Amino acid sequence: MTKGYSPLALVVEDDPPIRRFIVAGLTSQGFRVVDVDRAKSAVSHAASHVPDVIVLDLGLPDRDGIEVIRELRAWTQTPIIVVSARGQERVKVDALDSGADDYLTKPFGVAELLARVRVALRHVARSSDGTNETGEFRVGDLVVDLNARSVTLSGRPVHLTPTEYRLVTVLVRHAGKVVTHQKLLSEVWGPGLTDETQYVRVFMANLRRKMEPDPARPRYLLTEVGVGYRLKDE
Ligand code: CA
Repeated sequence: MTKGYSPLALVVEDDPPIRRFIVAGLTSQGFRVVDVDRAKSAVSHAASHVPDVIVLDLGLPDRDGIEVIRELRAWTQTPIIVVSARGQERVKVDALDSGADDYLTKPFGVAELLARVRVALRHVARSSDGTNETGEFRVGDLVVDLNARSVTLSGRPVHLTPTEYRLVTVLVRHAGKVVTHQKLLSEVWGPGLTDETQYVRVFMANLRRKMEPDPARPRYLLTEVGVGYRLKDE
């Protein structure tokens, strides 16, 4: 965390023990925190406090969290990390496609929460100066050079088809964040193929064969079951 600046987090959660847990985790890492328990106050506090990040529970008593995301996205790009119950893949996909940046499945640990928040804040910092768009992406033995349009694994060139390379660039632009099947389809294949999630699975399997030291146990191209994929980001 940068010295001299404490980022502000808005925590929206109606379950008091979970809210206290999230607030304590963020506070321990130097965040300033505003916490609320209703959708209505989430929207008004987002406007009045201008937080750096929003942690949003989807199951709120007064309104659906997805609606809150859509309303916020009408006027702010502040990263939104949603918190949802286990097994609600459809809801996670809706949340991400509505503009959430990432999600956490309850129960989650403090380390996981902070990792997601760090990734979200890093993306904000990057997109404001734009440097990541032109540079290199590195994780473990994998290097993607967007300038040279090259990919290497342990120093050896990885040969990709144009479609595979496009898929990699989308994942690199969202490194560390989950990207839904829908988003990958529309960004790589264009609009109109939104139900063809098997395309993504086939291409991802090919990418793993080329880019993973052990394709059966992916280290970099991670599956988010029922939701999409996440490129690991160190
Ligand atoms: Ca709730």
